[in-house]
Amino acid sequence: MPNYYTFSAADAIEYAKIYGGVADFESLVSAEEIGDGNLNFVFKIRDHSGISRVIVKQALPYVRCVGESWPLTLDRSRIEAETLLAHYQYCPEHTVNVLHYDPELAVMVQEDLSEYTIWRKALIDGVHNEHAAAQIGHYLANALFHHSDFYQDQLSKKLAVSQFTNPELCQITEDLFFTDPYIEHERNRFEPELETLVHELRIDKTLLTAVGELKYKFMTHAESLLHGDLHSGSIFVTEDKLKVIDAEFGFYGPIGFDIGTVIGNLLLNYCSLDARDVDLHELKQNRIESIVEVWETFSNEFLRLVREKSNNPIFSQELFANRFLEKAWRDSMGYAGAELIRRVIGFAHVADLDTIADKNVRITGKSTAITLGRNLILHAPELQHINELINYIQDNGKKKKWSDD
Ligand code: ADP
Ligand code: MG
Repeated sequence: MPNYYTFSAADAIEYAKIYGGVADFESLVSAEEIGDGNLNFVFKIRDHSGISRVIVKQALPYVRCVGESWPLTLDRSRIEAETLLAHYQYCPEHTVNVLHYDPELAVMVQEDLSEYTIWRKALIDGVHNEHAAAQIGHYLANALFHHSDFYQDQLSKKLAVSQFTNPELCQITEDLFFTDPYIEHERNRFEPELETLVHELRIDKTLLTAVGELKYKFMTHAESLLHGDLHSGSIFVTEDKLKVIDAEFGFYGPIGFDIGTVIGNLLLNYCSLDARDVDLHELKQNRIESIVEVWETFSNEFLRLVREKSNNPIFSQELFANRFLEKAWRDSMGYAGAELIRRVIGFAHVADLDTIADKNVRITGKSTAITLGRNLILHAPELQHINELINYIQDNGKKKKWSDD
């Protein structure tokens, strides 16, 4: 990328003036770098009165939270912009609007979502955003259906698979999600109190085989254009709206990966609530209801789209579509389990659990997450219905004995 240079705040303001689509662009006067993510620069561009008007996001040629010792392709910025634009085409109501992008500068300009809150923060604050689960289910159905072979024509689908080939970012997931937690690796981080549970994972051959199946599917099943990193920190919510951001891990993969990541993050939050002494019964119920709603909205909407929009006479058969969704459901459960485990013992943790100050409570929550994750991965192929998942979650929270089943 010969033209690449890292933006200063002043560069970001100039860029926003040209590409931000702001009519009174001269009023853009300040830029604040607010990236709390692990990878990139995110500038909020403000006007004279201090109101944030537009976002400029730039990729750095390395992993920001680690430093220059971990180089990372700038092409991820193109992938992010093109994935968001592709999803926006079919689900504008729940995808951040990319106003402009430049692959050479690895930069994009986005609509400002400052009135939204990151869903993870809302979940940690004990808020129940009533519409969020159905909205993310709707996003999943529309983004995933319209980029799958149920809808795309054969030739453009293959071209799109190559357009969205994202080897370096996929390798991060392949390693951090599916390998590191199950071996000794310097990137892993967990409290010594979890050592026994971690050791049990690593010697469980049935579990390791199931993780192998999930990883293999992730690497080989180009079902649809995934977001690729759909944790609750990539989702912005208000009381009645939801928008997805941060799609630099986008690629063609198994749809259960995106669904499972959403469900896994709701479960991580559930585990953090379950560990606390105070009576959080209603919130816990809310989380479980949200998981049900994500799946039900996704699957109903996906089936509707198959019925109404699929061009493929073989795939649009009801029985085939149902069988496809049954597999997606089982995959989702497995990927949700893998998300629970890697977020507790791997490199990238979640604030839901890590910010619990009381050590015993924190360890209890994390132990529940590991055990639930392990059981989801092991039993995913038998989980026929969402009610069985609910029983699993509730039993696991109370007894924490599943691993002995
Ligand atoms: P990274 O790829 O480095 O993880 P993100 O896209 O997750 O970066 O953005 C980091 C943070 O910047 C988000 O958590 C959010 O607080 C803020 N942010 C990102 N995009 C927007 C946006 N369009 N509007 C408002 N804030 C944003
Ligand atoms: Mg992020």
